[in-house]
Amino acid sequence: MHARPSGELEGTARGDEAQALLRNCVHCGFCLPACPTYRVTGNELDSPRGRIYLIKQLVEGGPVGATTRDHLDRCLTCRACERACPSGVEYGRLIDLGRELVDERMPRSPPQRALRFGLVELLSRPLVFGAMLRAGQAVRGLLPSGLRARIPARSSRGLLVPAGRHGRRVVLLDGCVQPGLAPGINSAAARVLDQVGIAVERVRGEQCCGALAHHLGATDRALAQARANVDACCAALDAGAEAIVSSASACGLMVKDYVRLLAGDGAYSARAKRVSQATRDLAEIVEPDDLRRAGRGGGSGPRVAWQSPCTLQHGQRVAGRIEALLEAAGCTLTPTSEATLCCGSAGTYSILQPALSGELRRRKIAALTGGGPDVIATANIGCLEHLRAESPVPVRHWIEIVADSIRRSRTN
Ligand code: SF4
Ligand code: SF4
Repeated sequence: MHARPSGELEGTARGDEAQALLRNCVHCGFCLPACPTYRVTGNELDSPRGRIYLIKQLVEGGPVGATTRDHLDRCLTCRACERACPSGVEYGRLIDLGRELVDERMPRSPPQRALRFGLVELLSRPLVFGAMLRAGQAVRGLLPSGLRARIPARSSRGLLVPAGRHGRRVVLLDGCVQPGLAPGINSAAARVLDQVGIAVERVRGEQCCGALAHHLGATDRALAQARANVDACCAALDAGAEAIVSSASACGLMVKDYVRLLAGDGAYSARAKRVSQATRDLAEIVEPDDLRRAGRGGGSGPRVAWQSPCTLQHGQRVAGRIEALLEAAGCTLTPTSEATLCCGSAGTYSILQPALSGELRRRKIAALTGGGPDVIATANIGCLEHLRAESPVPVRHWIEIVADSIRRSRTN
């Protein structure tokens, strides 16, 4: 697609980048069936190709209106279209650019800005979020059912178990909302890693990965969080940690992307690259044979429906590993459909676009439960909480299911 940058983009690096990104799109439309929002609304402007046309108009200095903003806001940034595109269009970078241009030329209303600011401040500060969550949990039983479903019951699990001494050592990132919502996930991760001979440590000074702020247009905040995490993680790597590990696929993807986000920052680019290259999803550092040994070859786990988050399968391009790990831990995978369809969670999308998000969740749960699972497994706290609110079966992080299966097989 040919585009001629104009106005403030003409002759700039940003304009050149936009032109290069747009050039790869040949309008073929192969991405349309992969797009969750197009499948729900049937509107071309809610498809990747339609949004790319809107972004081209923005780059060429065309008019900006509420319609353009609405169609770009409705994108989940799931990146299923990137996987479907035969021309290698980097849609994720294009949508970031499109949203930036809209926000610059047509600032959001004060209530919209306040809502987005509040979401970043509330969700990316673990202490603030934890206090608000505990207050909500204390009155949960008195709330209307719709609101109650959004607040998980207080978890009795918690606290990272002390790890044994091992030759291998990794940093396990805490994340921002996960310690409050589901502290059992990282505890289970630490137990399993301990059993396979890997010690875990936390880093001092960790902040939210920045994904929330980035996707809500708070770019400076996201970059400040990324720099703080680069400082913290580099210190841990210097001290001998072999990897930076995240049990939340959205956070892991963001940290893997620091190399691009901080590429133009002379003080940070090299260290950001080092951190991104050392970052792994939890599934990338455990092997099926490790789990078979840890479970002493025994165990019969539950029937599990596997839900691969978009940030894992489309963003990090990690596929097939967690299914193998669940089977190695004695679980039976049940058949599912719509494996590449987004569940509708997508960070704060479920709050900002509740109708589309709810419809995608309904479709996803139907696709996951068709095989009669005991439990749905996922790899990202956002998907977990979003699905859990409406699922007829429990929804858990895969590492919790693996940890329980290993424990059962060792005690039988
Ligand atoms: S599949 Fe790729 S090249 Fe084809 S319309 Fe979609 S983004 Fe453009
Ligand atoms: S990122 Fe997802 S929702 Fe957005 S255009 Fe691509 S497939 Fe559609």
